[in-house]
Formats: sequence, C-alpha cells, structure tokens
Amino acid sequence: MTESIGKTNLLGLTQLEMEKFFDSIGEKRFRAGQVMKWIHHYGVDDFDAMSNVGKALREKLKACAEIRGPEVVSEDISSDGTRKWVVRVESGSCVETVYIPQGKRGTLCVSSQAGCALDCSFCSTGKQGFNSNLTAAEVIGQVWIANKSFGSVPATVDRAITNVVMMGMGEPLLNFDNVIAAMHLMMDDMGYGISKRRVTLSTSGVVPMIDELAKHIDVSLALSLHAPNDALRNQLVPINKKYPLKMLLESCRNYMSALGEKRVLTIEYTLLKDINDKVEHAVEMIELLKDTPCKINLIPFNPFPHSGYERPSNNAIRRFQDQLHQAGFNVTVRTTRGEDIDAACGQLVGQVMDRTRRSERYIAVRELSAEADVVQSAAPRN
Ligand code: SAH
Ligand code: SF4
Repeated sequence: MTESIGKTNLLGLTQLEMEKFFDSIGEKRFRAGQVMKWIHHYGVDDFDAMSNVGKALREKLKACAEIRGPEVVSEDISSDGTRKWVVRVESGSCVETVYIPQGKRGTLCVSSQAGCALDCSFCSTGKQGFNSNLTAAEVIGQVWIANKSFGSVPATVDRAITNVVMMGMGEPLLNFDNVIAAMHLMMDDMGYGISKRRVTLSTSGVVPMIDELAKHIDVSLALSLHAPNDALRNQLVPINKKYPLKMLLESCRNYMSALGEKRVLTIEYTLLKDINDKVEHAVEMIELLKDTPCKINLIPFNPFPHSGYERPSNNAIRRFQDQLHQAGFNVTVRTTRGEDIDAACGQLVGQVMDRTRRSERYIAVRELSAEADVVQSAAPRN
C-alpha cells in the first residue's frame, strides 16, 4: 500500500523497519513492539485505541503515520466456515483472500499480485495478464483483515489462522521484497506468530529468486510442477523455457537443504485431462522426482470459461495417485469439501483492472476455499 501524502503506513513494516521508523521520529525503539501488537494482535487501526501509548505520542503518530489495509469490497462466510474476501488494492484491482478451516487447522490463501505475467496456460489469473504488485501492507493486510474477522486474538492464544499459503493470485517471487516483508510479519511474534513450517510460498519456478530466497527467509516451499518433462512444461508453464526442470529441481533441493532440517518440498501438480494425467506421465514423474525429497499434492483442474482444458475423471485421478503412491510417494489430492470427495472445486471471482485502467475485466481465481486434502497414507519415501 502506498502512503497517503506524507504519512507512513505502519501496517506493512517489519519489526526492524518499525524500530527505524520510531528512531526517525525521535522516539524509543520499544514503541515498535507496542504498536505492532496493537496492529497485528488486536487489529487496531486507530492510534487513540492504543492505551499504553501516551497522548502526546498518539498525536504525533496521527500526524505522520497511518494504519491502512486494503479496502474490503466483500466478505462471504459459507456454512462450512470458509471465508472469502475481495479486497481492492491501490492500483484499483481487486484480489481475493480465502480462509479454509479444516479440523484444528485454519489456512489462509493470500494473493501477492493483481494478475500475473507468467501466463500458465491453465490458469485464469495468468490469462488476465499482470496488473500490479501488492505492497507489503496489502499482502499482510489480507492476514490482518482475516485475523480481525475472528475478533481480537493475541498471538499467545489458539489462533484461527494456523497456516498461510501464498497461493492466491500472482507469482510471489516476482514481488520479492514485499512478499518477504509480509512473510516475516506472519512469523514474527509481534505479528501473527505462525511457525515457519506453516507459512508456504508457492512458485511456478523463478529459479534465481528461489536461490535468493534462502538468504532471506526459511518458509516452506511449494513448487508448481504440472509436467514431468520440459517439452510439456514449456507449453503449460512458459517460464520453464527460461528455467528448465533440471535447474529448477536443483534450486529447490538447495533451498530445502539450506533449511537444514527435515522439511520436504511440496510438489503441486494440476491434473489436466489427457494432457498430463496419463500413466506415462506418472512414470516420468517418479523418475524425475526420485532424488528430491517431496510430498505431492495433486490438484484436479478447476475449469473456467474458454480454458480449453478439462478436469480428468475421478478414475483417472485415482489411477495417477495410486501409481505415485505405489512408488512410495506421499500423495494428496486436493478436492472439494462438504460434497463428494471427488467433486471439482468451484471458482472465486475477482476483478483486475486493465493496465491502462480503461476497462475492468472479471477474473476467476482458483477456489482453494472449499478444499480438503485427501491423504492416501504412504510411508514417507525419504
Ligand atoms: N503463482 C504461484 C502461486 C499461485 S497459483 C504458482 O504458480 O505456484 C497456486 C496453484 O494453483 C499453482 O500450483 C497453480 O498452478 C494452480 N492453479 C492455477 N490455475 C489452476 C486451475 N485452473 N486449476 C487448478 N489449479 C490451478
Ligand atoms: Fe501466475 Fe501461478 Fe497462474 Fe502461473 S499458475 S499464471 S505463475 S498465478
């Protein structure tokens, strides 16, 4: 989020940045933690509500700072507890955030960009092209808004949001600095106190930025693979032409080993009927991933108008899963909750402003909301 004239938006500042801010206005650094708790734990956007901040400082803050999240255009709560927000960002576009409760877990799916430049052939966001990067305040603002909807919840008590996945609109590694800052806030005790294992960045494979990531943060990593060979992946995920599979998997393995613990890469694989769901694809995938400790999440394709793709049959999905499972992989299928477990996921609708702002186009975003992971138990391979 950009600043109003002369005012610093405190919402997107990491702890270090917040301390620098207080330095810059001639105040003590400990104020950073105090103010961050008000913002992130209690969802406060009014300095007057900060009862442990003296009146003089509150007035000073009001004059030079603000706490401003993206504008909530709509909030929907479904009967199964799923929540969806459409928020308008500074560029005028709308992006979506989805909360998915599942047992003791509550996963928030967060957007990083309005639109996406990478143009994966089966992705509705990609079909809209790129509009804008979200600011750090707009990325963390989605967590802030969602958290507030559950009431004021300090980080010390059971939280509604236990996991965050950067799997909404956009390629998070192409909005690197803002996404890193927001993910630090997700994990910071002064922010949302979420464990690094429960914050996941999903990427289509921007290799140089995966390499850079390890220098900045230790969140979990998910790779959108979608094809077991370069020829097919070049068609589905065009960035593969620049960063082919061998290079990509090596970069992911390096990132995971830099974490220095037993954490495994998540492989996302959207199943497209007759395109990447055949026996030979599973065979190739088993070979491709044999040296990469990972768990595999199969995502049956979510159709959208004029996509040109279809979702495979339940049998084809099951066959693909079984094949990988028999090779020793831990495989889950993401599917719709509350209905037959093999039902297709629905879709969300956001609105992305044309870059020229002359027109608005509806975009469909994958609905991660009503999804549950159906786990086919398997002995971990690695
Ligand atoms: N840009 C990042 C993160 C956002 S997309 C990435 O590509 O990883 C989150 C996941 O949804 C990705 O694995 C993406 O490939 C997948 N996806 C996109 N469109 C889809 C669709 N129509 N059906 C099913 N999965 C889709
Ligand atoms: Fe962008 Fe991810 Fe969609 Fe590809 S799948 S176009 S990287 S949002």
